[in-house]
Amino acid sequence: MSRRRAALVTGGGSGIGRAIALRLAEDGFATAVLDLDTEAAERVAGECDDKGYEAIAVGGVDVSDRAQVDAAVRRVRTELGPVLGLVNNAGVTGFKEFLRITDEHWDRQLAVNLSGPFYCCQAAVPDMVDAGWGRIVNISSSSTHSGQPYMAHYVAAKSGLVGLTKSLALELGPRGITVNTIPPGFVDTPMLRGSERRGLLGGSVDEHARLSPVRRAGRPADIAAACSYLMSEEAGYVTGQVIGVNGGRNT
Ligand code: NAD
Repeated sequence: MSRRRAALVTGGGSGIGRAIALRLAEDGFATAVLDLDTEAAERVAGECDDKGYEAIAVGGVDVSDRAQVDAAVRRVRTELGPVLGLVNNAGVTGFKEFLRITDEHWDRQLAVNLSGPFYCCQAAVPDMVDAGWGRIVNISSSSTHSGQPYMAHYVAAKSGLVGLTKSLALELGPRGITVNTIPPGFVDTPMLRGSERRGLLGGSVDEHARLSPVRRAGRPADIAAACSYLMSEEAGYVTGQVIGVNGGRNT
């Protein structure tokens, strides 16, 4: 990378976000690890630091709260410089029979999985516009390809994120900013293991992995590798795209 750039990874304290934060820091981004969980954000920023990469923890931030997001982005700008890379990864899963989805369930899914990325984009895009360069990657879900029973609220929110990605890509393309989405599928993270423990997968992770076209579950590093490419200089002609990383489970 020709010059130092700051990147913000939401939900960077665990699973896919942790792998992305470590990878972007390795790629040379000064990386802000944002998470609701302060200890987790600090742990991951510490891991970057141990490897000699530049990173800060931005803990205790709920992406569904615009004021908290604005304050976090101001802090990153002050400590690391203009935010030229943004990975909207923070997310919460939900599993409820459709008629049992309450307004609260619905609103929380929309707030974290869709409004969060909206607030983060609005906070960071001005830096990218000023620089004439930017990279945004939104982590959606392979369930947006296929739909998913008992996850109507989650899939609706993540599908909205795909729409946000495509529209922003068209609007921001002339400013040198690319916007893409990675819908992961079946990646071995605390979120997936939590669903397994609650019996929501219809079988174990290992059973599903054996049936997958590539015969394994995804690894957080699989998503981080795709994200690294989309955040790179050489991906400047790739925008508005849905880059599935799911072991062939969805084509
Ligand atoms: P994870 O639960 O391991 O990590 C999510 C992180 O986001 C946690 O550190 C959590 O504290 C943080 N977070 C949650 N709500 C937040 C909020 N309101 N504000 C700030 N931080 C918040 O999950 P993961 O499996 O690594 O998932 C990462 C992303 O990938 C999510 O958006 C998820 O929906 C998506 N995804 C994952 C899979 C999979 O197979 N694991 C599949 C499809 C989509």
